[in-house]
Amino acid sequence: MNKKDILDILKSPDKSLFKEADKVREEHVGNGVHLRGLIEFSNICKMNCLYCGLQSSNKNVERFRLAKDEILSIAKSGVEAGYKTIVMQSGEDSYFSAKVLCEIISEIKSLDVALTLSLGERTYDEYKAFKDAGADRYLIRIETTDEKLYKKMHPFADFENRKRCLRDLKKIGFETGTGCLVGLPGQTVESLADDILFFKDLDADMIGIGPFISHPDTPLASEPNGDFNLALKVMALTRLILPDINIPATTAMETLKENGRLLALQSGANVVMPNLTDVEHKKLYSIYPNKASADRNEVEVMLKRIGRYVADDFGFRKH
Ligand code: SAH
Repeated sequence: MNKKDILDILKSPDKSLFKEADKVREEHVGNGVHLRGLIEFSNICKMNCLYCGLQSSNKNVERFRLAKDEILSIAKSGVEAGYKTIVMQSGEDSYFSAKVLCEIISEIKSLDVALTLSLGERTYDEYKAFKDAGADRYLIRIETTDEKLYKKMHPFADFENRKRCLRDLKKIGFETGTGCLVGLPGQTVESLADDILFFKDLDADMIGIGPFISHPDTPLASEPNGDFNLALKVMALTRLILPDINIPATTAMETLKENGRLLALQSGANVVMPNLTDVEHKKLYSIYPNKASADRNEVEVMLKRIGRYVADDFGFRKH
């Protein structure tokens, strides 16, 4: 598919794309759905992403940082509950030096579980240290490949550095995840087509796509939310273009639309990321308002209903 083909599909009202993506998903990654247990361990962030409720200029957030022992105990209960992957996600919190993180990484890895990190931009040496300590995967969304829009959305950040992070992660040997937001103010469908081609070019191993959800404590408070269907289309097209990768049914999809997760799982997605953090901290990790949650039992019931099941392997990309 070239850019024109992608654009035509993004602009067309035809819904057959979703069925097609579902078929490709079944052929390439099967009916097992991988559950990744998410630990949101710090909402302290030095960045100022305009759309994100955790941006440093938002003074209305009560900030928290879990202690090492708390993180380890949540990871342990996740593994005991049967999760085969733990995901550690946070704001860009410098308190967590490479040294501290590597200690946490090796302790979690001793539990015989796959480990994904999502901590934002770090140096090559830090990423390398995380890998050497045992981390398997790293998620860092490009957010948008439209450089002008990127600059507007991330006033003090550097687009080149974001791309450098992705290249370094690949080079070091991480299973590398990226993705984009759909519906950022000023975003064009053309740039969404470029985003999809960027995923392909990087040969990303995981892609997370979510609609933009407006947060009341950010400069984008009065902007409309992203369009659910358009986000679903970007996700389905990504499945067609990278048939064997892992694609989550993102929480933002479920937050924006009732049954959004179910629709995503039937349009190309094969991963769900239930939250393992306790209710109090989950509330404080408010990147956007009314964040949905995935109850493990409910997910299992839903999967059964659609002829799917919880996969019991680590869920690495099957090339
Ligand atoms: N600090 C890490 C983790 C970011 S949170 C990093 O920089 O990678 C994970 C993702 O949430 C972000 O990559 C972004 O795409 C998404 N997100 C943030 N604010 C959002 C909003 N208002 N609506 C929808 N998704 C949002």
